[in-house]
Formats: sequence, C-alpha cells, structure tokens
Amino acid sequence: MAELYADVIVDISHEKLDKSFQYRVPEKLRAVLDTGMCVTIPFGSGNKLIRGYVIGISEACKFDPARTKDIRGVCENGVGVEDKMIALAAWLRRNYGCTMIQALKTVLPAKQSVKKLERKTIRRLMSREEIISLLGESERKRQNAKARLLRELAEQESIPREWVTGKLGVSSQTINSLEKAGAIRVVSASEFRNPVKLERADENRNILSGRQTEIAGEVMKDFDGGRPGTYLIHGITGSGKTEVYMVLIEEMLARGRQAIVLIPEIALTYQTLLRFYRRFGDRVSVMNSTLSQGEKYDQCERAKKGDIDIIIGPRSALFTPFPNLGIIVMDEEHEGSYKSETTPKYHTRETAMEVARLHGASVVLGSATPSLEAYYRAQTGKYKLFTMKERLTGGQLPKVYTVDLRQELKEGNRSIFSRKLQELLADRLQKGQQSILFLNRRGYAGFISCRACGQVVKCPHCDVSLSEHRNGMMICHYCGYSEPRPMLCPKCGSKYISGFRAGTQQIEEKLQEMFPGVRTLRMDADTTRAKDSYGQILAAFSNQEADVLIGTQMIVKGHDFPKVTLVGVLAADLSLSMGDYRAGEKTFQLLTQAVGRAGRGQLPGEAVVQTYQPDHYAVTYAAGQDYEGFYNEEILYREMMGYPPASHMLAVQVFSPEEGRGRCLAEQLAALSGIRAKAGDVGKSAKKQVEMQADCAEKMVLIGPAPASIGRINDIFRFVFYVKCAKYDKLIHIKDVLEQKIQMMQPMNELVQFDFDPMNTM
Ligand code: ADP
Ligand code: ZN
Ligand code: ZN
Repeated sequence: MAELYADVIVDISHEKLDKSFQYRVPEKLRAVLDTGMCVTIPFGSGNKLIRGYVIGISEACKFDPARTKDIRGVCENGVGVEDKMIALAAWLRRNYGCTMIQALKTVLPAKQSVKKLERKTIRRLMSREEIISLLGESERKRQNAKARLLRELAEQESIPREWVTGKLGVSSQTINSLEKAGAIRVVSASEFRNPVKLERADENRNILSGRQTEIAGEVMKDFDGGRPGTYLIHGITGSGKTEVYMVLIEEMLARGRQAIVLIPEIALTYQTLLRFYRRFGDRVSVMNSTLSQGEKYDQCERAKKGDIDIIIGPRSALFTPFPNLGIIVMDEEHEGSYKSETTPKYHTRETAMEVARLHGASVVLGSATPSLEAYYRAQTGKYKLFTMKERLTGGQLPKVYTVDLRQELKEGNRSIFSRKLQELLADRLQKGQQSILFLNRRGYAGFISCRACGQVVKCPHCDVSLSEHRNGMMICHYCGYSEPRPMLCPKCGSKYISGFRAGTQQIEEKLQEMFPGVRTLRMDADTTRAKDSYGQILAAFSNQEADVLIGTQMIVKGHDFPKVTLVGVLAADLSLSMGDYRAGEKTFQLLTQAVGRAGRGQLPGEAVVQTYQPDHYAVTYAAGQDYEGFYNEEILYREMMGYPPASHMLAVQVFSPEEGRGRCLAEQLAALSGIRAKAGDVGKSAKKQVEMQADCAEKMVLIGPAPASIGRINDIFRFVFYVKCAKYDKLIHIKDVLEQKIQMMQPMNELVQFDFDPMNTM
C-alpha cells in the first residue's frame, strides 16, 4: 500500500497559510485522519511536540521520504476558538467545493502582520513633593526639557508619551534617565482599534408585546434546555423583530455568551449599529469591508479576548472568533447578498447553522418575505416558525390597483404611464404629496415579450425565459436550447414584440413632458456611482426637495419616507422574465417591498402596479401582500421542476480563454458526473434532460452544458452545466469526483468552480 502524506500548517496566522510542512501518516492514523483535523507533530531540530492542522492529504512525498517525520497523534477536537475555525473551514471545503487554503482564508481574520496600535503612558512614581524638588534641581542645572516634563508631572499623575515627546519636545534619553532614577515609569497598553465612535445615549425601553415575549421565551427555553434551534421570524417591517433580537441577545449576554448580528448590506450597518449601541454600549462592534485590515484583525482579537460581545456586519461577520457564541441573528434573511459570489460560494444561512452547531448556539432568521428555502424548512419542521402580523409603528397597508398594460395598449394608450397612474400622480402633485416610481429592472437579461398579449418567449424544457442574442437567436441559459427570434408574437400575432428598453432617465423625461415643472430625483446605478451620493439623494427626498423619486430596486430597501403616499411600479413583471428559476420569488419580494413603501406615515397610501401579466401569482399575491398564498404556489412549481428548495442543484462552471477547450472540458466533466447525457452540440440543439433512476430520492438530472448567460467576459469563455438531485450528499459526491479528475487532468488555463443551489444563473 502506498504511503500517505499530510500537509500540515503549524500557524494559522493569515499570511502563512500557504506555508505547510509535510508529514507521513502512520499506519494507525490512516483510517481516521482527515483534512481539518488538529494533530500533534514533532517540529524543528529539537522535535518539540506542537499542534498543527491538516490541510491536505496525498500519496506524493514532496521531500526526502527517509527524512519525513511521522504525525504523532490526533488532538481532541473542539477546545479552542482555533479548532472551531479549522473545523468550519473543513466544512466549507466539503460543502461548497474549494481548497482548504481558500476555506481558511474565508474564515480566518485578516493579516496578523498589521502592527497593533501601541500607546505608552508616562506615570510618575514619586510623590508630588519629590517631583517638585527634582524640578527645582533641573531648573538650576538648566535642564530645560527635563524641567518641562517634571512641571507637567507635578500637575498630573500620568501623561501620554506621544505628547511628552511631541508637544513638550522631551527626548527619549531624558525619559529613560528619569525612569532609571525611579521618578517615572513608562507603561504600555496595547490598544485595540475601535471603529465604533458613538456617544452612548439613554434609550426609552419598550415594554415587550405579548407576541415578543412569547417568541423570546420559546427561543430561550430551547436554549436553556440544551436544544438550541433555528427560528424564522416572519414579520412585516415595523412588527418588532429587531426588538426581539435585542432581548434575546441580552439573555445570551447574561449567560456569558456572545452574539453575531448579520445584516445584508453595509449601507444598513449604521442604522442598526446605532440602535444596538444605545442598548449595549461599547460591548458592540462592527465588522465589514470598509474597515482596514488592522481594524478587522483587532475586532477579532477583541472578540477572542472578551472585550466585545456583539458584532454587527454583513456575511463575513459570521466568522468573528467568539469563544462562546450563543446566538446568530440574520436579519432580512432572504437577501441575495447573503450568498458569497467568490469561491467558496457559501450560503450564509447554512453556514450560520454550522457555526451554531459548533458552539451550541441558536440561530434566528428574520424577514418580511422569507426565502423559499427558509419557509420550506419552517414548513417541514427543521426551523420553528413565528409570525408577527401587526405593525407597531402605525400606518396601514396601501390600497393597490393592478393595471393591465395590454388593455392600455388596446385602448390606445402607448405611454409608459397607465391612465390610473397619471391620474394619481396629478392628484399627488396638486396636493403637494410625494410619489415614488419604481422601475423593476432586476436581472434584466434581454428577453422579449409581447406588448399586446404579454407573452414571454420561454424554454420548452426549463420553463424560464429565453434570452435574445446578437446573432438573432433566443437561448436558454440552463440547457442551451435555442430558436430564432420571432418577428411576430407566437401567441397573438402582434408586431409589438420587443425587449423592454426604457431606463430611469427616459422615465424622468416622459414625466417632465407630462407634468412640466415637476421636481424629480433619480436613483440608479448611474446616479449613485459617486461615494455618498446614495445617502444624499435619500436625504434630499426626505427633505421634500423633490416631488417624485424615480429609481430601480435600490429605492425599495430600508428607508422610510413618511410623506410618500403613492408608489407606481412601472413594469412589475420585468423581473419575472429573467431566465432564472428564482424569478417569481425575486419579483414577489421586490413588489411587496415596493408597494409597502406607500403609506408609512399618517396619510394612507396607494400603489399602482402596471403589468403585462396581471394574473401571474407573483403579481397578484404581492398586490395583496399575501406571503403564504405566494409560497404555496411557488413551492409547487419548484417541486414540479425539481428546483431548490424542493431539490438541490449543483452548478459546475467552466472558464477558459479558448472557446473550444472550455466547451470540451465542460462536456468531459458533465460526462464524468456519472449521469449519461446525450451527446450533442452545445448551444445548438435542445439537450435532453437525462435522468438516472437509482431510487427515487437519489434521482439525478443533468442539464447542459451550455454557454453561460454572459458567454464571454474579458475574453474568457464561460460554460456551465447543472446537476439536480434531492440528496445534497450525492451532489457533494459528484463535486468530489470532479475535483479529483480536475486535479489529475491539470487543465492549463481552464478554471472550474462549483456553485451549490445557485442564486443566479451564470
Ligand atoms: P422590525 O425589526 O420588525 O422592523 P422593530 O423592532 O424595528 O421592527 O420595531 C419597529 C418599531 O416599533 C420601532 O420603532 C420600535 O422601537 C417599536 N417597537 C418595537 N417593539 C415595541 C414594543 N413592544 N412596544 C412599543 N414599540 C415597540
Ligand atoms: Zn402576443
Ligand atoms: Zn432550457
């Protein structure tokens, strides 16, 4: 039997991750040793026994086999913070497909080489009288610098050293001589950089509502009973979720545990931080990409040492190395930004559950429109579900009008504003109230639709829209099916068939034509490119500097505008056609959020939803703000088509500078996945969805390969294929097989990435 060798890292400080040492795996450990394990190894010339972590195992010996030392033994798991982080990295590697080093870089804090801020203080050791007598002496001897320092020390017991050497102009030599004489001592306290600079203010605490008490009570009962669980709080904005999070965190702190609070975007950090800071003071800190490497590192050190108990930040805050974590809160759980776009492409929700498992902590998810995944698990008993239906801040749900744009065209209105929207806009302008116009351009990917009947050209195999390509073909980005672009609507024969090309700028122009003198603000990717412009536009609108705010999905999040009484959604169904199985879910979420923008204040609100598909369930349920209704229909579609969460899906993405080689590798890997696909030319013919029947739950389906939706970026060609299976473990197995093959083939310029349950089509 061939010998096995393990790559072991002895120091997990970030920059040394690539430096590993090879050890032989002794006979007795062959069966048990695995990547991510903590081992004891003889190190250096003295063979001192130290701890290390296995990051890879292979049969190849990189050095002289005769001089390669043996691993001594395996350490007991789960002692320190370090072991948990290594275990987590190993889990990420296994579940999402990446190297151990990539996984370690994901979970470990930023570089250690950053120097700690060191602050030194000069403290006097003598009494005031003694100092004064020394002062007299140095004045006589005309030791001016020394005298300046002693004069200060006569007044105060300790002075920052910087100030002494800077402002007072005292040399180190002088300071040293005084220290030698026993007059002073220089003390150094390494100080951790603290990014939070807020004044702690007193807060008026709310008395918890009955529902809030119930929820907090149940979570803590499970926790105290040794059964920490995962909970989903389904509650509209303003129903009091954040208040529940804070109470739970208080309870955890009282039990000596720590808390991680995840938010979807950095832009929302400040708001949340302010609220937590009011209650918890400087036990709270933040972690996000705007911090310097040094600050990030310091936050990790503060967390390890117990200087802070609560960290707030986007998904990477999940890796804060708390010694005894009690709870992970994930607010706005449904947001796409919780999925990492770089390898390892992890889901924050699932990773949070693994972190919680390692610590024995609870996980609390919150959303007004939960992801299908979370709600599905709540339905199937994996999570406990709590609903909060009442809004504590007042304001009513808006009255919603759904307008059929096909009917508008039929009755001669070719404008992008329906007659109802025009009427209500005029009314608001006349009353001096504010409106928001929302252009739904999410995931816009060149599909075409009919303005007369609303028909969208779809893939006959995947039930997602086809995308228009420059060569005049329509292509499915799951399976590669293609057909020529129709000139007339295949359903009604109308010639009004085209892609939707209106942008926010065009809408602004049309609006000004229609209502001369209207004051408008625009918020989209163009107008928010400059730093701070996002906040400036929001502030200007809040200050009533404009009558109408026009924008893309950016405007539907987070902020409250109490003066807005009208929301117009210009083309509600645009996002329904994004060629992605999550199109319905994303549309429902966007519409629900958009419609909910109206009527947050004292005045009641109205919303106009313009659409070509007024009967589509995502549109009708969003108009009615009916989450359960939407979920029940959407989950049927996912079950029927075998899409997550009803099943699992692995995307294998191939990148290559050469089209032929990329296509070929994708084909090879797809064939190697063990599911036999019918041979055929990618992108030209419909790939049949090939099914392999093992037993029902383990049924695997291969889709593709096909060129990615953006087939080439920066001259790198992109191909993708999908494997669907209800059993996640089977997909992990396929990933492992492919990883091994890729390692053996050593493709020169091709790169392969894995994406489990992808959020978007590539
Ligand atoms: P969510 O996180 O669901 O949007 P919040 O926790 O932010 O809801 O609560 C919304 C508003 O209601 C906040 O202004 C909050 O201070 C207030 N609030 C929350 N709980 C209570 C309560 N029990 N009594 C009174 N006001 C409350
Ligand atoms: Zn038509
Ligand atoms: Zn298809």
